[in-house]
Amino acid sequence: MLLRDYKITRVRRSLCNPEWIAARAELSDDIREVFPYLNAVLKNAVYTPKVPSLNVKMETGFISVMPREILVGQVLCEEDAMKVLDYLKELINDTWERRETITPLYERKAEVKAKDVVGFLPKTNCRDCGLPTCFAFAVAVMRGQKCLKDCSALGKLEFAEDKEALLRLLQTVGLEEAAKAGVSIRKAL
Ligand code: SF4
Repeated sequence: MLLRDYKITRVRRSLCNPEWIAARAELSDDIREVFPYLNAVLKNAVYTPKVPSLNVKMETGFISVMPREILVGQVLCEEDAMKVLDYLKELINDTWERRETITPLYERKAEVKAKDVVGFLPKTNCRDCGLPTCFAFAVAVMRGQKCLKDCSALGKLEFAEDKEALLRLLQTVGLEEAAKAGVSIRKAL
């Protein structure tokens, strides 16, 4: 077992949304050696070898994993933060156990941003998806909160090629399931 335990050492209200909290957890062990394996396993992870750190997009925000600490952002309460941390602990240890079967990835993967997604959307801001703009929809897709079928315009024949291109783009960051079927990438909550 690489990571034996964690301890939440700080919980504070989010500055951008007071309904959210951000929690910081100290780790019992240095887990940096698992980063290249997690980078290979988690398609949506952003690995920065020089720090080193691993940032992962989740449904409601991001988590940031460092060698001796994990930051969990945009969760509603400390109990939710613990669910995310328990999930990560299991993922870290499972990935470490299986490391001989995983090809480690030592470099940062290409990043996909909301502005890349919006380039393939109809850009009419018609609000049919329940959001005020196509950009807001792109952000929601990147967070796993919306799927492509929520944009009714994308289902039209004239946007078929854009939709296909968007699916391929989202596959590169592990969001293909959310894109196709609205399945959340967040497994912990
Ligand atoms: S339904 Fe599609 S086109 Fe309309 S605002 Fe939402 S993303 Fe844009």
